[in-house]
Amino acid sequence: MEPLHTYTKTELTDLIVGKLRRNFGRDVDEATGAHMFKACALVLRDIMSAHELETEDRVKDTHARQVHYLSLEFLMGRSLMKNAYNLGVVEPLTEAIEGLGFNAADLFETEPDAGLGNGGLGRLAACYLDSMTTLDIPARGYSICYELGIFKQKIVDGQQVELADNWLGLGDAWLIPKVDETETVHFGGKVKEQWDENGRHRVVYEGGTDVLAIPKDMEIAGYGTDHVNVLRLWDAKSPVPVDMSLYSRGEYLKAVEQQAMAEVIAKVLYPDDNHYEGKSLRLKQQYFFVSATAQSIVRKHRVQYGTLRNFHQKHVIQINDTHPTLVIPELMRILLDEEGYGWDEAWHIVTHTVAYTNHTVMIEALERWPQELVSTLLPRIWEIILEISGRWQNRLTEAFHGDMSKVEHNAIVWGGDVRMANMCVCTCFAVNGVSALHSDILKKDLFRDLYQLTPEKFQNVTNGIDHRRWLSECNPKLDALIRDCTGGDDYLLRPDALKKLEQFQDDAGVLSRLQQIKAENKRSFAAYVARESGILLNTDAIFDVQVKRLHEYKRQLLNVLHIIYLYQHIKNDPHFQFTPRVFLFGAKAAPGYAVAKQIIHLINSLAATVNADPACKDRLQVVFLENYRVSLAEKLMPASELSEQISTAGKEASGTGNMKFMMNGALTIGTLDGANVEMHEVLGDENIFLFGLKAHEVQELRHRGYKPYEYYMHSGDLKAVLDQLTRGFDDGVSYTDITNRLLFGAGGSADEYLLLADFESYRAAHQRAGQVYLDQRQWNRVSLLNIARSGIFAADRSIRDYAGNIWKVPTKEL
Ligand SMILES: *Cc1c(COP(=O)(O)O)cnc(C)c1O
Repeated sequence: MEPLHTYTKTELTDLIVGKLRRNFGRDVDEATGAHMFKACALVLRDIMSAHELETEDRVKDTHARQVHYLSLEFLMGRSLMKNAYNLGVVEPLTEAIEGLGFNAADLFETEPDAGLGNGGLGRLAACYLDSMTTLDIPARGYSICYELGIFKQKIVDGQQVELADNWLGLGDAWLIPKVDETETVHFGGKVKEQWDENGRHRVVYEGGTDVLAIPKDMEIAGYGTDHVNVLRLWDAKSPVPVDMSLYSRGEYLKAVEQQAMAEVIAKVLYPDDNHYEGKSLRLKQQYFFVSATAQSIVRKHRVQYGTLRNFHQKHVIQINDTHPTLVIPELMRILLDEEGYGWDEAWHIVTHTVAYTNHTVMIEALERWPQELVSTLLPRIWEIILEISGRWQNRLTEAFHGDMSKVEHNAIVWGGDVRMANMCVCTCFAVNGVSALHSDILKKDLFRDLYQLTPEKFQNVTNGIDHRRWLSECNPKLDALIRDCTGGDDYLLRPDALKKLEQFQDDAGVLSRLQQIKAENKRSFAAYVARESGILLNTDAIFDVQVKRLHEYKRQLLNVLHIIYLYQHIKNDPHFQFTPRVFLFGAKAAPGYAVAKQIIHLINSLAATVNADPACKDRLQVVFLENYRVSLAEKLMPASELSEQISTAGKEASGTGNMKFMMNGALTIGTLDGANVEMHEVLGDENIFLFGLKAHEVQELRHRGYKPYEYYMHSGDLKAVLDQLTRGFDDGVSYTDITNRLLFGAGGSADEYLLLADFESYRAAHQRAGQVYLDQRQWNRVSLLNIARSGIFAADRSIRDYAGNIWKVPTKEL
């Protein structure tokens, strides 16, 4: 690898001072932390901009195939440290900042998280941008420039309160508006077909509204390369200026209204994770972003190649879940209506361009848009969808020999709905799940018939994480140990090199250093929590952590039931053997998800009772961490010892939190779900605490008829725990609703996620974990093996899989 140009402390100091003067009209001694942050961001942006232009030229000259990664979410977190790290300037930048009289650590902390995502799906997209760039793939991400990202969570009287996340004040330092690349997106109106004077078929719209899509580009630096890619975030603006002349005609408000209607499109990220809401504004967001994106890709392609005939050879569009599905009919529209292609040729191009990643098999998360909404909002797109759907139905009828139940099940437009997942499988040249188990379930269950029809489309790409951010950057002490053991920083570009750590599994010196690092990280995290909330964590106890979105299928409630069990035994059984634990939770609940909010309240009620009880002193502590987000996860992962990955088997598509914990040396207590299955494969039974029903056993139990009440009747422990839920805790709040859901169901089936069925097995797994922890030598050995074998969960590996098996683009050779 040719050495990259780097910057010295002096050079960076001069650049920062220059930015302060020119952009903010200030000398260093008048600059606030915010000015300083922005100046640093602008300096790094300039460096990346220069690289981006070179990258663009290179892509153009080589006629390389480009990857377009479409996602309604990119949970980027902070960028200053990330960009400095990838550009190789962390040290000189830190020194420059300190030299100018600022505390570098504090400065990095002033950056707001770019929270343009809900959880795992959005964070995955962010990790993939890093890896695609690091591997020199010509790639772009596309999304919406939400003014408000995922809400900020406050806990008030034990309950979640949502606050607006106005990230753009400082966060826009990274965004470069490209006004000259504005696209226009059309909504509503009526479709009219005409033939122009040359006899050409023309589709025109009567009425409706236009919305301008203005790109705000965020540059993405790769690690150890000059390659720079771009995340293009579309902002929405009305093309109609507020026309003061309308005011006198009483239409001023109308003009303002239209402007507000356009701009509301990019106002806010929908805070639902793994849940479909059929909201009209959400559909507008989806079309707005895919239409602008498709037009932008086509426009650039036309400039370079003068034809769209080779479009599918030069581009692949990867869609992250079904949220960007409308890019399919939108590309068809452009090819048919604007380029004048016939249906078959357009279809050939589109079906060789778009690939689909499925992220869930849960029915409530699958998008099915009411045709009424689609046809009103997007009349031309609706016509195209109907045509796709009709042709598809003919094909299904033929393939399934008229088996109408199969035709119905796999149809695109049916019963007044447009079923996005079916449209994707019909159209896309590749369909992938995100872990081995999940991809298997897609073939056997969700898309069973379509797998029979087109088995060659179905693939697996197990998710991965950016191990540079999630290990090296956030856990510098562990990074240092790895360098010492593996002979350098090779692992940063070859995550498999982590394997070399295995040689040290019996090395007392290395194991004790690993233990010391974890202890120091626990103390730093405890100091952070003390500063933020005043709570003092017991750093001698196991840090047992469950952080992820709050969802019933993720079973935070199972964790709670177990803590209540422990609490009762600590209180009632003087001989109870138990390794002291601090249970840490972090989770946002979708604002409209009442049960999830109740569970947050419950965790806080339980925490208040446990933490105030002298019987629990030094033995049991429960803490709910407010506002779980990327920057909090970066502090927490290095300090975690036990990772709770306890979803009902078959429900979690992959999980990526599980990988972050593993890489930071936490041991996992988990079910055989999502990527936990692959973690177990590399670790073996002895290095992971598995429990619970397997995916097929879950199905069998449901088939036999699951009766949670019987578990309640036959287990004294479970009965005591559930009765306590009904009674409530010291704050006097009763959780009868939750008990009732578990025992009798409410609307749905009782204990839908099989908590009671898995409780005893979970309890036993916890006991095993507690036992191993007493033997620190053994615990550290297992921790080391977890780190050593986590290399396959690097996003670099996932991206090489996508590049080789789906995108067919070359990646950097090492
Ligand atoms: C990694 C991550 C997630 C995903 O966690 P899972 O346990 O896989 O659901 C969610 N939120 C944030 C902030 C993350 O960093």
